[in-house]
Amino acid sequence: MEIINSCKINRLTELIGNASHPVVVTHLKPDGDAIGSSIAMYSFLKISGKSDARIVINDRYPRYLGFLVDEDLEEAIDVYSEKPEAAAKAIAQSDLIICLDFNAFHRTENLCTHLQSSTAAKVLIDHHLNPDSESFDLVFSKTEVSSASELLYHVLMATPLVGGDASVLPAAAATALMTGMTTDTNNFGNSVYPTTLKMASELLRAGVDRDAILNSLYNQYSENRLRLMGHMMKDLLKITEDGVAYIVLDRKTQEEYCIEEGDTEGFVNMPLSIANVRMSLLLKEDGNKIRVSIRSKRGTSANRCARLFFNGGGHENAAGGRLLMPEHVASIEAAAGYIETYTHRYFTEGYED
Ligand code: 5GP
Ligand code: MN
Repeated sequence: MEIINSCKINRLTELIGNASHPVVVTHLKPDGDAIGSSIAMYSFLKISGKSDARIVINDRYPRYLGFLVDEDLEEAIDVYSEKPEAAAKAIAQSDLIICLDFNAFHRTENLCTHLQSSTAAKVLIDHHLNPDSESFDLVFSKTEVSSASELLYHVLMATPLVGGDASVLPAAAATALMTGMTTDTNNFGNSVYPTTLKMASELLRAGVDRDAILNSLYNQYSENRLRLMGHMMKDLLKITEDGVAYIVLDRKTQEEYCIEEGDTEGFVNMPLSIANVRMSLLLKEDGNKIRVSIRSKRGTSANRCARLFFNGGGHENAAGGRLLMPEHVASIEAAAGYIETYTHRYFTEGYED
């Protein structure tokens, strides 16, 4: 099964070989796949002799992914929201920018203008629909993979350095790739392809400790998080006549339960377990915007709904976006009405194919 084009691998190998300041970039509010793929790419650059490689992200990675980041790696990460000058400088000095787990520069928030003005060679390795290929010199884009981590795994395996032997990957890269694939598939709950299981099998054989990864990902949350989940499912979940489940999580409730970034990961999927629910939305108040997560069952497009009504996009059944206050909704209290109106239009006015 040829999922990687060998000419592109040669080009990537050449670009890495010629680079002295490679930078790895991923999307805003990075999740497990974004951080996992970025760390794996960074580790590969290091074994390729690129001692000055860096990772640049808009926001700090969530605490639950801290097990992937040791002290040396922490030194190599520039977080724009904490030190904008350092992050901008890393991009400006870079001669090779490798972008992971997003399809267009605007998904990096404040890094966007810096990336656009950079003259470095740019590579995209991503699994989202509609990649902005024009902005890149080399594109690895495939949507029929579980995650950017999986796609990167196949890319790295095809390089001369790794030569198809997963045990050549640095342990940090192997663990990070397994982590990214695990979070994007909800632990093998969705988007699992034959190539996903092949990757998992090869990484296990190469010595990745999956039990330790699962323990770090799923057994280290705060008590508050579980209690919030109970409150959300019992008191906040609403279901419309069109089979749309939605939850609006305002700032006050987040504060009450001391919710951190990443704590609500996975909650949006839960209402899909109800038979007549076709689509599930989770809206989180965040300053003057509302972050929107959308999941759908097969036959309903979360991506189309996100693009049409929530200023976003993503995958067919897992997408996201944002609503600004007061431009799109007057206040967080008005969000429920917005969802009910627009999802009703979505299901009744022919937006669904
Ligand atoms: P999540 O709900 O986990 O934040 O995001 C689900 C999926 O939708 C992810 O693949 C993410 O990249 C994508 N996504 C989330 N927000 C946006 C957005 O504002 N724009 C686009 N294009 N994709 C988004
Ligand atoms: Mn992803």
